Amino acid sequence: MQLIDIGANLTHESFRHDFDDVLARARNHGVARMVVTGASREGSEEALLLARAHPGLLYATAGVHPHHAAEYDDAVDARLRELAHEPEVRAVGEAGLDYFRHLSPREAQLAAFERQLAIAAELGKPLFLHQRDAHEDFLALLRRWRDRVPAMVVHCFTDTREALHDYLALDCHIGITGWICDERRGSHLREFVREIPADRLMIETDSPYLLPRTVRPQPSHRRNEPMYLKHICEEIARDRGEAVEVTAANSTVTAEAFFGLA
Ligand SMILES: [Zn+2]
Repeated sequence: MQLIDIGANLTHESFRHDFDDVLARARNHGVARMVVTGASREGSEEALLLARAHPGLLYATAGVHPHHAAEYDDAVDARLRELAHEPEVRAVGEAGLDYFRHLSPREAQLAAFERQLAIAAELGKPLFLHQRDAHEDFLALLRRWRDRVPAMVVHCFTDTREALHDYLALDCHIGITGWICDERRGSHLREFVREIPADRLMIETDSPYLLPRTVRPQPSHRRNEPMYLKHICEEIARDRGEAVEVTAANSTVTAEAFFGLA
């Protein structure tokens, strides 16, 4: 089984002390490639350096998460444009809207998101997107930009069936994390994850966040890492009523096509 973790925050400080071990454990657990999320200007620079240091194993995205939208200015925009030209950078983002945590003002979020949509459109790059409690505004921007961007993945999808079908109608890809392994808050996803076409479904850990609750025993440190991706794949396979090998193979082919990894 050769899995691809399309969303791993490997620049997070919690990985600094044992980074090489994290990568080794991932490979030993069938995770052949990982896309390191860039969520700020500095984080995107670091993600690129990690990808350069591990060719063929790590790739990167370059973007500014809505939490950091207030930092988005012309200099950041110019640097993101440069980063997006680097061969290791396979998508623009993480970008989008988050009205749940609301760490940046709404106007700043909308502006930063639209400028990153413009970068993806100009450079012909796919987008790695985040949406929480902001479906209506998010969908309106996707509708305005969809025809100009080659592909979009709504990462860590946790929203409703209606939101899912709004995104699928725009031919978006969907990223599923260990949220689906959480019987307390992810059970709605289990009911409709089978409605995502195989060629639109990708899997991700969102490490170090969202440790799957199906990992037994739960590690005491609570840190998630790419080695646990198979737990997410197994839960999705169960909910889709298909063999885990099928979910694994399809999600890998889909991620290869999305990020140009083949
Ligand atoms: Zn996110």
